[in-house]
Amino acid sequence: MTTNARKPRERGPVKFILLHHDGCPRREFHYAVLHDGAVTSVRAETEFAQHPSAIAVVIQGSFDDEPPPNQQIDGLKRLLVQLVRRYPAATIGAHRQVRGDIETTCPGRKFPMRDLARWSETGLPKARDEAIERSVEEQYSKI
Ligand SMILES: [Zn+2]
Repeated sequence: MTTNARKPRERGPVKFILLHHDGCPRREFHYAVLHDGAVTSVRAETEFAQHPSAIAVVIQGSFDDEPPPNQQIDGLKRLLVQLVRRYPAATIGAHRQVRGDIETTCPGRKFPMRDLARWSETGLPKARDEAIERSVEEQYSKI
């Protein structure tokens, strides 16, 4: 036995895109959605954050008392369309839905999770298809 150095934890296959807020008891995320809807990358998607099968998205703010502003939800939706193109099998969920994890309201009691779940079944596939169409058109227009 020559080495017992721990390998950095790597993420496994993406099954979930989990949403968090600043009130999250955990601090490791892949992306942050700011108040104005801008998205910043916090760490590489290939790295581990919180859950081995999930991409972790934190929505800036605390949503136990107030919902996020519309522009922030719009930014989140744009990010989710990108992520679902890369991980078509991934399900979008709230941190609090993860079984066996610490008890939490994350991403907040007032976060519109139900609306977002509805959008993920109707609006999201439509937005994803439009994004794919646009990128195909762009490729053809270069020829
Ligand atoms: Zn969380």
